[in-house]
Amino acid sequence: MRFAPNNLYIEEYIKCANCGVLIYEKRGAKDPDKNPETITKAGKIYCSKWCLDWEEARTAKEANKASTVVS
Ligand SMILES: [Zn+2]
Repeated sequence: MRFAPNNLYIEEYIKCANCGVLIYEKRGAKDPDKNPETITKAGKIYCSKWCLDWEEARTAKEANKASTVVS
C-alpha cells in the first residue's frame, strides 16, 4: 500500500502568538465554528481578533511603562 507523503502529516503546527492555541489552517477555515478567524499581523498569527487586541494592548502598556519610568 502506498500513501502520498503529504497527506500523512501536518507540515507545521502554527500557534497563536498570544494564547498559544494550535491553528490548523492559516486562513479560510473550513469550519467557522472551530476556527472563525485567524489574523496574521507582522509575521505573527493570532487565533482571533481578541488575541490580537490583547497582545497589542499589552505591548502598548509595556511601551508606556518603559517610557514613564522615573529614576
Ligand atoms: Zn489566541
